[in-house]
Amino acid sequence: MRIVLLGAPGSGKGTQAKKLMADKNIPQISTGDILREAVAGGTRFGQKAKATIDAGNLVSDDIMLGIISERLAKPDAADGFILDGFPRTKQQAFDLEELLDELGTPLDAAVLMDVDFDVLMKRLTGRRTCSLTGKLLNVYFSSQRELDACTDAGGELIHREDDNEETIANRLDVYHSRTEPLIDFYRKRRCLRIVNANGSVDEVYERLLEALA
Ligand code: AMP
Repeated sequence: MRIVLLGAPGSGKGTQAKKLMADKNIPQISTGDILREAVAGGTRFGQKAKATIDAGNLVSDDIMLGIISERLAKPDAADGFILDGFPRTKQQAFDLEELLDELGTPLDAAVLMDVDFDVLMKRLTGRRTCSLTGKLLNVYFSSQRELDACTDAGGELIHREDDNEETIANRLDVYHSRTEPLIDFYRKRRCLRIVNANGSVDEVYERLLEALA
């Protein structure tokens, strides 16, 4: 199964991709995670990328094409993948299409995670990652038990630097102007599926599985 998850920042792409990865045994490829790893690595590229990410802007299409080509060439992506956060521009969508055409492995679906604006804001401002397990949590939506499990084990609930209100506003603008046009792009290619992404993680996951069936 080769799918793209589309949706605004905070629409739950990462959370749902991780569940799907565990169920279907195909990798979640998050370009945001790949970039954050580069930032943590402290390379010159990482330092430049950090400034872009912190401002909520997009890394250039050329660089993203290099990153995604390299990642899709790894053996674990041969039997399928879930792209989370790529493509984010029309150019990236064309590039991906060309890349997959060359490999003879077209996309099966592009799934739009459709979520109300007020839910998005809570998901983004409340989002935390457990430093020990990488588990995504949310101070508004996760149970106290789940939050405590991380801290009791000695972990920290990490708040992403780009999840502050100013950067979030820019990321949502960028989504609106650069990424939303991809909805039409994939609709025209007849592979768009739309999932109502409001509600609990499990409810949304059920809908996602139905959309992919
Ligand atoms: P995410 O974790 O998907 O929200 O991505 C975090 C940040 O990484 C974004 O706000 C962008 O600055 C950058 N980024 C991730 N994916 C892409 C992409 N496909 N194109 C350009 N920039 C990206």
